[in-house]
Amino acid sequence: MIRIGIGTDLHRLERNSRPLIIGSVHVPSDLGPVSHSDGDCLVHAIIDSLYGCLGLGDIGSHFPDSDQRYRDACSMDLLAQCYSQIKDKGYRLVNLDATVELDAPRLRPYVDSIRAALADALETDPGFISIKAKTTESTSPMTIKAIAACLVEN
Ligand SMILES: [Zn+2]
Repeated sequence: MIRIGIGTDLHRLERNSRPLIIGSVHVPSDLGPVSHSDGDCLVHAIIDSLYGCLGLGDIGSHFPDSDQRYRDACSMDLLAQCYSQIKDKGYRLVNLDATVELDAPRLRPYVDSIRAALADALETDPGFISIKAKTTESTSPMTIKAIAACLVEN
């Protein structure tokens, strides 16, 4: 059987905040996310998408931000835990498609590194990981938003 899931995530950006981490890659910026964990918006959307594939709830139900264990958590560690739950259910990722909305800096130079890191975490080839970069057309310069869709099969 194949199953599909979607996920979205959004973080407010502030000056002198955390480093901006997108898909585990550090993107130099004056702005960083306001967040409990490392604020990796793209990875949060991917985790929600993976849980959505199997109807397993969402990132907040597995890794609640009220839990001090997840303060400053590395989102890639959470993704690894999430994907091992998916594999425990007998499923594996077929492909992932995601969009990141961010006005600055432009993400394109980082996309290949992000795809490689996600492919590594999800035990697949970067050819099955699509990351698209868009701006908000200056409508939300203090926001980063990500949308992800995963397809899994058993
Ligand atoms: Zn988030």
